[in-house]
Amino acid sequence: MKLILLGAPGAGKGTQAERIAKVLNVPTISTGNILREAIRNGTEIGLKAKAFMDKGALVPDEVIIGIVAERVAQPDCAGGYILDGMPRTIPQAQALEAKGICMDAVVSIEIEDAVIESRMTGRRVCSGCGASYHISANPSKVEGICDTCGKELIIRKDDTPETVKNRLRVFHAETEALKDFYASLGRLKLVDGDQDIDDVTREILTAIGVEA
Ligand code: ADP
Ligand code: ZN
Repeated sequence: MKLILLGAPGAGKGTQAERIAKVLNVPTISTGNILREAIRNGTEIGLKAKAFMDKGALVPDEVIIGIVAERVAQPDCAGGYILDGMPRTIPQAQALEAKGICMDAVVSIEIEDAVIESRMTGRRVCSGCGASYHISANPSKVEGICDTCGKELIIRKDDTPETVKNRLRVFHAETEALKDFYASLGRLKLVDGDQDIDDVTREILTAIGVEA
């Protein structure tokens, strides 16, 4: 199963990707997490990406396409994977198709901007594995510590209210059109993201025809 999760920043893609990946037993490919790790490690890609990400802008298509093409070629992706945060633009989606990276399903997590803006101030992410938490909706068992890997939870640099507003603008301008792209290929499913995390997971599994 090759699945794309679409949705605005803060819609819950990372949160749902982790859960769906466990059910399907496939890896999640989060371009955001890959880029943040590259920034921490000071790699060439990280240096290129940082300035864009700090502003809430998109990293150039060719950088993203390169990262994903390399990642899906790894052996652990042979049985499928979940793309979280990619594609973000029509050219990225076209590049996937052109490389023969065809997706079985595309799920768009639908949510209002106002809900997102309030959610993002409570988001905490793991500095080790990138897992996403929320101080009230999805807290870690021990405050400030990741349940999965034990590393410290941090506030993302691009989660300030100003940057979130900018990321939402970019989403509506460049990413939302992907829904039409995948709808015209007959692969788009819509899921209501403004409900409890478990209910969203259930709706996604139903949408892709998987029994939980
Ligand atoms: P994305 O990967 O789409 O940017 P995240 O999965 O990181 O979004 O979710 C953004 C924030 O909202 C996180 O703090 C997360 O814990 C929280 N969150 C995710 N889904 C829900 C939900 N259904 N209800 C409340 N909070 C949620
Ligand atoms: Zn972790």
